Amino acid sequence: MSLLTLNQIKVSFGEQVIVDSVDFSLEEGDIGCLLGPSGCGKTTLLRAIAGFEPVQSGSITLADKLMSSPAQLVPPEKREIGMVFQDFALFPHLNVGENISFGLHKWSTGEKSQRVKQLLEYVGLEGYENRFPHQLSGGQQQRIALARALAPQPKLLLLDEPFSSLDAELRESLATDVRQLLKKEKITALLVTHDQQEAFAMADKAGVMYHGKMLQWDTPYGLYHEPAHHLVADFIGHGVLIRGSVIEDNKVSTPLGELNGEGISINSEGEMVEILVRPDDIIIDDSSARRSTVISKGFRGAHYLYTVELEDGSQLLCMAPSHHQYELGSEVGLRLNLDHLVVFPAGYCEL
Ligand code: ATP
Repeated sequence: MSLLTLNQIKVSFGEQVIVDSVDFSLEEGDIGCLLGPSGCGKTTLLRAIAGFEPVQSGSITLADKLMSSPAQLVPPEKREIGMVFQDFALFPHLNVGENISFGLHKWSTGEKSQRVKQLLEYVGLEGYENRFPHQLSGGQQQRIALARALAPQPKLLLLDEPFSSLDAELRESLATDVRQLLKKEKITALLVTHDQQEAFAMADKAGVMYHGKMLQWDTPYGLYHEPAHHLVADFIGHGVLIRGSVIEDNKVSTPLGELNGEGISINSEGEMVEILVRPDDIIIDDSSARRSTVISKGFRGAHYLYTVELEDGSQLLCMAPSHHQYELGSEVGLRLNLDHLVVFPAGYCEL
């Protein structure tokens, strides 16, 4: 059942439309994630869901109750929505226990202390009740901020770049822990991040926004393997678009040779298309007759990411384990590992 539904919402500041006709819904207990380049409207969308920004058209419903429409704006404190922001915003003069129980107005002292204990256990900080925020590390403060937002058992939790001030390693482990915690508490959550790994580690559903529009709302797998728009293909993961011309239905001629794939029915014969090729679609195989030249390489820890150039000048990305090194300028064979083709009409279309 959908807990949160956005129907064609539009948010503007003056003349400028920031969120443009956005539709999506989030199932109860699911974790959603908003991705997209800086300034595309992610935070504004989150603020509209929280009730801090009015909508100029469309509607936002939460648990079947209308929260926002041009004629209605339920105030933030009446929405039963919890929020966690980038800067933690713990109250410095309150200890951890007081911070967590801050929003539990109608709870008895006994209930409050039980809830604080339970949440501290969930976030792995048992016994920290009496510490003050300045006595905690950044990661610990963020766990307390999360515990505080979860304490009143909100219907929906909104998280705006909650881990961005933490280092990469801590970010990844916290993202996994937070997912487990949200699942345990059966909380529906929507997260804004610019970190795809974080989104992939946490989300059941994710959306890519661009200039205020939602280009695709899908599973992380779907965004990566079946991008519906070339901008999604470009934004998610590594990859290049190579040119091809349609020979017949489901068959394209490309610099990599003839490729077959389902769904090339949009085209008429000879029409130019662009085909997404990810690094994991290409395997370096010296026995292959398909030759290319290494033009750059980047160390990625367990593997190198190579850029190789084909005879016609088109370039591809591919990966190889870092103990198998290829020098710049060397010739390598390429084998294809494309199990399906992602095809777009040629030429970057306007939004
Ligand atoms: P980032 O990833 O950099 O945080 P974002 O996708 O969250 O970006 P928003 O913060 O939603 O983007 O901002 C979208 C656009 O709206 C930006 O151009 C921003 O300057 C503009 N904007 C945001 N808040 C306001 C405001 N209160 N008044 C006017 N313009 C605003």
